Amino acid sequence: MQKPTISTTSKPIRSLEDALERCQDLGMRVSRQRRFILELLWQAQEHLSAREIYDRLNQQGKGIGHTSVYQNLEALSSQSIIECIERCDGRLYGNISDSHSHVTCLDTNQILDVHVELPEDLINQIEAQTGVKITDYNINFFGYRNSES
Ligand SMILES: [Zn+2]
Repeated sequence: MQKPTISTTSKPIRSLEDALERCQDLGMRVSRQRRFILELLWQAQEHLSAREIYDRLNQQGKGIGHTSVYQNLEALSSQSIIECIERCDGRLYGNISDSHSHVTCLDTNQILDVHVELPEDLINQIEAQTGVKITDYNINFFGYRNSES
């Protein structure tokens, strides 16, 4: 299959640098606070609530106000620079915006990102069953961490 030429605007975000670059491409100002939030999400590699993001940044001595955290998360997620998951108990934010799957740990309610590639014959099977050409997918896995240390 031939790969289409990727324009800068549709370039997937796969690193902190990509995320910062996307901000610049969109003409968004990369303030210190905005950079702190992006750095934290890329370091953490998990999905955090606005409250957790606020707490962690302040623990790291990166003083940032509640309002600033909320406004930055809103701006970044509305531009798809970060991921936003709506859960019944509130919103969670994560670092990757290109398509991926989630593993939920039922002990802690933590949601981890994974990249899953399904075998081609399974995709073909689903296409044959439904008549729909599959172009994208994400899967939700649920489970428990194994308790051995
Ligand atoms: Zn995610």
